[in-house]
Amino acid sequence: MTTKKPMLSVQEALEFLLEAAAPVSETETLPTAEATGRVLAADQQSQLDVPPMDNTQMDGYAVRAADCVSGAAALPVSQRIPAGHVGQPLQPGTAARIFTGALIPEGADAVIMQEQCAFDEASGKVTINHAPKPGEWIRRRGEDILAGSTILQRGTRLRAQELGLAASVGLASLPVYRRLKVAVFFTGDELTMPGEPLKPGAIYNSNRFTLRGLLQQLGCEIVDLGNVPDSREATQAALRAAANGNDLIITSGGVSVGEEDHVKPAVEAEGRLNMWQIAIKPGKPLAFGEVRREGLPSPAFFIGLPGNPVSSFVTFLLFVRPFILALQGASVVPPKRYPMRADFDWTKPDRRNEFLRVRINDKNGLDLFPNQSSGVLTSTVWGDGIVDNPPGQAIKAGDTVHFIPFSELLY
Ligand code: AMP
Ligand code: MG
Repeated sequence: MTTKKPMLSVQEALEFLLEAAAPVSETETLPTAEATGRVLAADQQSQLDVPPMDNTQMDGYAVRAADCVSGAAALPVSQRIPAGHVGQPLQPGTAARIFTGALIPEGADAVIMQEQCAFDEASGKVTINHAPKPGEWIRRRGEDILAGSTILQRGTRLRAQELGLAASVGLASLPVYRRLKVAVFFTGDELTMPGEPLKPGAIYNSNRFTLRGLLQQLGCEIVDLGNVPDSREATQAALRAAANGNDLIITSGGVSVGEEDHVKPAVEAEGRLNMWQIAIKPGKPLAFGEVRREGLPSPAFFIGLPGNPVSSFVTFLLFVRPFILALQGASVVPPKRYPMRADFDWTKPDRRNEFLRVRINDKNGLDLFPNQSSGVLTSTVWGDGIVDNPPGQAIKAGDTVHFIPFSELLY
């Protein structure tokens, strides 16, 4: 009798991967403007308050609120303060013409927006038809950031927002982890490159394009070794080349247990391998291991993705992406799941955890792509994301399901 190994749950497989992920330790310092997509290597503090001084949020007149309590004051305009210039202390009973971003002069405690004032050239006085509250239209010193506070934490992936925030406190450069070096190759005698004619039995290598795009979005340095024929020798040679100088090797195809699947024995000969059967659809076989590196004490990590294009896309998003983030030193946050209404029936659920390609319709419900086969790439372009459907769970139209938008997984 053969005992079948129980399948790993999606969560278990992910936990194994994240436990194994040893982050890169080398860092470099980059000009803030060039750090997009990189991972911050140290907490960043602000040395200053932002805004650094009280300033006006509006074009108008800076006043003492007490001078305007009647709601109809006529005050002489004593000075003009554009942004970037420092005014004189405001004399009681006068107003200062002031422009957005300019410092509030000493003594003033409110700004009247110009729409609520009438300036008279002849008298040089402004009539104010409004009784302001103290503090009105004033941006307070430190209301965004206080000096000494941590504005960005180590492990943060730097997007446009983070770079703007760093710049707002004057940080001209940022420490980041070095880029992860990832080697890829694609197994299959049937694989042909776009641009070449398609011989009988051949298909175009789409995984090469999907995978490279995904790795680029994650800011990896990619070494692409191209198509590798289905032979043990070719696969081993490709593995040795891929391990040299790289942190991680990712392959597609050849991880089933058929006679033409050479990845398993090849990785076992060049390092170590765990073949995982994961309770996931699309997906299921995922190979995780390591390949020895000549002259280096530590091996390169290895992940073998299934060949079917949708399987390799989905397993990349769910497993490889968080693994890569962890290797890059980034804090890994699980993708957000949104409860949404299914506007479809799913009557024959699999006993594995399914990830169904769906799209948001104009009634704010979810439509299902009609063909959920693991080879149908159209579903990944048509869809807005995936429904995480628990093992064995049938869905009736109107049920609430867990929706993960692609935007949660593709940045
Ligand atoms: P395999 O995992 O090698 O058994 O491949 C499973 C299926 O995916 C087969 O139909 C392959 O032709 C297809 N496939 C494998 N690699 C690729 C690739 N790089 N691009 C597109 N389809 C592929
Ligand atoms: Mg194959």
